[in-house]
Amino acid sequence: MSKPKLYSITKSKIHKNGVFAAKNIRKGTYIMEYQGEKITKKEGDRRSEELLEKAKENESSVFIFELNSKYDIDGNVPYNDGRFVNNSCDPNCEIIIRKGKIWIAAARSIKKGEELTYDYSYDLEDFEDYPCKCDADNCFGYMLDSNLRKKAKKILDSRKKSSKK
Ligand SMILES: [Zn+2]
Repeated sequence: MSKPKLYSITKSKIHKNGVFAAKNIRKGTYIMEYQGEKITKKEGDRRSEELLEKAKENESSVFIFELNSKYDIDGNVPYNDGRFVNNSCDPNCEIIIRKGKIWIAAARSIKKGEELTYDYSYDLEDFEDYPCKCDADNCFGYMLDSNLRKKAKKILDSRKKSSKK
């Protein structure tokens, strides 16, 4: 028997479809596995680059996840509900990699009906191509690893200054 699902997938205000809590979820709960095709790093890099090019054109997303030093997971498969979880600058979920599996887990307690989100943690390279439209009060405006926001802000500020000249 399968357990009743903790979530449902429906239209999101943030971006296309989103994943919403179907019941109250306790902090620390492993909500879903981020499933996909296990591929070598080399193949992962190749697909990432290909997808990034496409993403710039049509707002599609990249679903390649780093599993460990050797392998990536390509989550762009129909059975992976994890690909519908949107980015947020103030996320309620976090990614946990454990025993060769990627999990989306509750980073805090989540109320029924809340949209599930995590920090996509994109790096500084090309971050301006990935605007964030989450509704967090502290929305940074771009999908970017929260640890890199200070650096990114400096980059943006210096660009503003030079464009004023
Ligand atoms: Zn945001």
